[in-house]
Amino acid sequence: MKPTARRVADFLPSAFGEMTLLANQHGAVNLGQGFPDFLPPSFVTEALRRVLADPQPQLQQYAPPRGWLALQQALAEAFAPSLGHQPDPLGEVTITVGATQALYSIMQALLEPGEEVIVFEPQFDTYTPQILLAGGQPRYVQLHPGPPSAGADGWSFDEGELRAAINNNTKIILLNTPHNPTGKVFSRSELQTIADIAIEHNLYVLSDEVYDHLIYDGQHISIASLPGMRERTLTVGSAGKLFSVTGWRLGWIFASSQLSAAIRQGQQWATFAAATPVQQAVADCLHQAVITDYYRQTIADFRQKRDLLAEALEEAAMLAWLPEGGYFIVADVHRWLEAGFAANTSELSRRLVTEFGVAAMPASVFYSPATRQFAPASLRLAFCKRNETLMAASERLAKLAERFLGVGA
Ligand code: PMP
Ligand code: GLN
Repeated sequence: MKPTARRVADFLPSAFGEMTLLANQHGAVNLGQGFPDFLPPSFVTEALRRVLADPQPQLQQYAPPRGWLALQQALAEAFAPSLGHQPDPLGEVTITVGATQALYSIMQALLEPGEEVIVFEPQFDTYTPQILLAGGQPRYVQLHPGPPSAGADGWSFDEGELRAAINNNTKIILLNTPHNPTGKVFSRSELQTIADIAIEHNLYVLSDEVYDHLIYDGQHISIASLPGMRERTLTVGSAGKLFSVTGWRLGWIFASSQLSAAIRQGQQWATFAAATPVQQAVADCLHQAVITDYYRQTIADFRQKRDLLAEALEEAAMLAWLPEGGYFIVADVHRWLEAGFAANTSELSRRLVTEFGVAAMPASVFYSPATRQFAPASLRLAFCKRNETLMAASERLAKLAERFLGVGA
């Protein structure tokens, strides 16, 4: 047989998918991959049920590649306040198969071979392969952790380091706020620094805001809303995150009509369109969410889960950088390494899942091989889980900490 293509040869399997496989094999409590293990609210599942029972035949057929108009309209309306302008539903809202495909389509539409994307590290692991698949090059800028007591806000970048990473090939700054994995919510002044640099160097900003509805401290600001940023910003969102339905695979991009046109020109040949019934159901959910006060209730639920897990981690000598937003807690585990439980965080997370029934991601998976030395001794744990799941993980970690570290006895 002839060899398969070089462009995919060096990619490893997704660390999140692998961790879920391991967790299932070992009957572990899964705080590794970020997906809710509870049912979405009933208005969400009801919305899809209603669409499937709808007698209009076109709801079961192809949507236009740019998206289903009812969803484009609902999104334009729902996100106008945070974007600082109401996007034109037809021209400036593009529907995708999850935020994952939104990011992929943007890289394909913007990058020429050799052009560079600034990526803050730690980073969601999808970014680098997608940049490489588009022929681009990632260039990493570190978010330096403060002490855990400073919370997720303590993760900060140095303006000089960001400026030094820019050269003639730089095309995009990739921003993720609220941030995976740290839970950092970028402040207005940090966003202004990024915006100033983007304008000065004529760069695009790709802003991944899939956790924008989950803010526990501070305020979510879309960088598109800052002066001069609308035309150069592409803002990405996810219905999977918004409504706790990651399996529905629905996302979107807000971008100028010129950028949206380029994205659609490529995307139509990849997926043609996202699932029509899911698009109509999400449009209905966006309306229902306002009526039912869903967002406020969701924040309260998730804040309680965050606090439950953070407290348990502290008792288990894993100090949390308390997240300001999103699904995850990063926790410092140096005491576990010093106690000889494992030689590094990869081994620690492997032992936890295979021997002791708790799945968590080692921080190293959020760094590239070349920059892994910057990864602090830490784990990322997902708290988008039922309270029973969080309690089960807490009990297992507490027992282990008592046995191996002599704490909490
Ligand atoms: N961006 C970030 C920061 C994420 O954590 C994720 C994963 N959940 C995605 C994008 C992908 O979202 P989706 O499931 O909609 O593809
Ligand atoms: N975003 C999720 C996480 O960080 C996982 C998404 C995926 O597995 N692709 O855990």
